[in-house]
Amino acid sequence: IAKNAGKNRYHLFDPEGDRKAQFHRSYLELLTQALTNHEFVLYYQPKVDLRDGHIIGAEALIRWAHPERGILPPSEFLSYIHGSQLDQKLGEWVIRQALTQGEIWHRQGLLLSISVNISADHLVQQDFSEHLAFALSQHPDMPPQCFELEVLETAAIADIEQAVTILQTCRQLGVHFSLDDFGTGYSSLTYLRKLPIDTLKIDQSFVRDMLQDNDDLGIVEGVIRLAKAFRREVIAEGVETLAHGAALLDLGCHLAQGYGIARPMPADEFEIWAQKWYAERLWLHLKNIGPA
Ligand code: C2E
Ligand code: MG
Ligand code: MG
Ligand code: MG
Repeated sequence: IAKNAGKNRYHLFDPEGDRKAQFHRSYLELLTQALTNHEFVLYYQPKVDLRDGHIIGAEALIRWAHPERGILPPSEFLSYIHGSQLDQKLGEWVIRQALTQGEIWHRQGLLLSISVNISADHLVQQDFSEHLAFALSQHPDMPPQCFELEVLETAAIADIEQAVTILQTCRQLGVHFSLDDFGTGYSSLTYLRKLPIDTLKIDQSFVRDMLQDNDDLGIVEGVIRLAKAFRREVIAEGVETLAHGAALLDLGCHLAQGYGIARPMPADEFEIWAQKWYAERLWLHLKNIGPA
């Protein structure tokens, strides 16, 4: 009997897995504390129309302003949140915060469309659309038409019928949807047709290599054509150089976002950047470079 019990204990006790689970739990507690302590901030990355330099909007990207470790990107902490209660809480904070900032900018005459990233788990919460409706009602000077939800292609197609229902309900509030990291989720044309989304965001992995890799160039070209055929907007993310921008313009994609235009930055820096961008008319240099 003792031998058997020992064996069982051996199977049940997994010190390595236990340590990991404990670390995960305590990290999650830290993150919950961080939300209470207002340590999360949103950075904003511009989205521009390369034809005339117009800043059409900004994507809100979360950062953790850690008291000792400094500004931490989502790759440092988002995976710990997935599947926990904090996922929805943090997601709701992001929505409120982005609406607050968007409303401030609208009141100043900076009429930007603001987008936020919505996790798959948060999107399928029972009361998602009610919370969104309430948040929008709290920010009357931020038009819902200027608020956009970015949903990962993989999340949207995980349960397509459910996604269609939620997206339709939210769209009745006026908000827009984009499909993030498009091209990485293997969605079929049937899915794409069914999904009530406004914009395809070409994944940055294809955009980054499109000037050297013909396959990636082909994918970028294909997504642009697909968007046109389905009457969707298309935006390229990961536009790292003006040469990328020029090549995209040549292919008929005029909306762009990426380090080549600007990195994500705090709201006050964004305002300064926007003034400089318009004053120096930086996008005009695209013409001089031309497509690669
Ligand atoms: P994403 O939504 O696809 O956002 C684009 C990511 O690429 C951002 O990373 C951005 O900083 C980065 N990026 C932008 N332009 C360039 C470029 O030219 N080159 C390169 N190499 N990278 C570029 P970030 O901020 O680290 O965010 C990573 C991911 O984390 C996001 O990918 C999004 O899926 C997720 N995320 C960010 N903020 C939130 C949030 O508030 N809620 C949720 N649920 N997810 C978020
Ligand atoms: Mg995004
Ligand atoms: Mg993306
Ligand atoms: Mg991504």
